[in-house]
Amino acid sequence: MTQEFLPLRLDLDPQALVANWRWLGERAAAPAGAAVKADAYGLGAVEVSRRLADAGCRDFFVATWAEADALGALPFGAGLSVLHGLREEDIAAALASRARPVLNSPAMVARWKAAAPGRPCDVMVDTGMNRLGLTVEEACSGLLDGLEIDLLLSHLACADEPDSPMNERQRGRFVDLRGRVAAKRYSLANSAGACLGPDYGFDLIRPGIALYGGIPRAEARGHITRVVRIEAQVLQVRDVPAGDTVGYGATFTAERPMRVAILNLGYADGYLRAFAGNGAALIDGRRCPLAGRVSMDLIAVDLTGADAVEGDWLEIDYALESAADRTGLSQYELLTGLGCRYQRRWKE
Ligand SMILES: *Cc1c(COP(=O)(O)O)cnc(C)c1O
Repeated sequence: MTQEFLPLRLDLDPQALVANWRWLGERAAAPAGAAVKADAYGLGAVEVSRRLADAGCRDFFVATWAEADALGALPFGAGLSVLHGLREEDIAAALASRARPVLNSPAMVARWKAAAPGRPCDVMVDTGMNRLGLTVEEACSGLLDGLEIDLLLSHLACADEPDSPMNERQRGRFVDLRGRVAAKRYSLANSAGACLGPDYGFDLIRPGIALYGGIPRAEARGHITRVVRIEAQVLQVRDVPAGDTVGYGATFTAERPMRVAILNLGYADGYLRAFAGNGAALIDGRRCPLAGRVSMDLIAVDLTGADAVEGDWLEIDYALESAADRTGLSQYELLTGLGCRYQRRWKE
């Protein structure tokens, strides 16, 4: 069955995607790459990369070699980095790929030197997050001698927090590192880091979430615009008599006779149960709240004051920042959890 008949869709706005990418680069006064791991946070990595490449993006980041492979060919001159680096099991895939590994550990460095001497790579150095990366001491120990380093990276732990002293601490360590380890280019900032401005730009920023409409920091409000809208089809409209209940657990009781629309959307589509009690569909700008719980594949919305018929498509309230506030889910979880049962429709 072809995608176009699916009863659930993501409307994707390529102009918003490109405008967000441009704004982040301007904000950080640095060239902008794009993190397209996790299938571009659920939007579709092939489509996202093509559009950003057309706009001039030349650096893409995925997590694994399988993701690099799934991306297919990139335009001439575009680079691709595999953030999780080079396990023993990855060597064959890496040698067959145009992508560069991001070397994160001394074992990875040794592996690349042995497998592909002289071939360019990237290196991640940990400046305080204690996630992936060499320690500063390891990076400065001579371990990296002989490597052809294209990009030297580090990653900020607290860039999305309003006033964390971690940001300046990590930036200071990164500046120091830049003076001690030779690489073609240096990169520190994700989306939130780019919002911190030119001090964090260096030679390249690596935004992900804000490309896709996420608001990582207050500075992005009013500049980063929505890329993703969810629309679900009405499968049935029903009248519910006063006193009847709706859905699993009978948690919602109709106080008066009412109509509900049953929509093709549920937690298997990433619309998690945390939306019960605060989620809504939008009909002519009016919020029609959920009635009862979220099922695996279905929700019910209260049609009081609005109208819908079987077959209608209703927009779901999925503004990332406010949905995150209401549900306790992160904007990242809201996008990456969406799953594969959507038609992904790019506007032109
Ligand atoms: C995911 C990731 C990014 C992008 O982060 P956002 O917060 O989505 O902008 C950048 N750099 C690294 C190393 C990452 O893992």
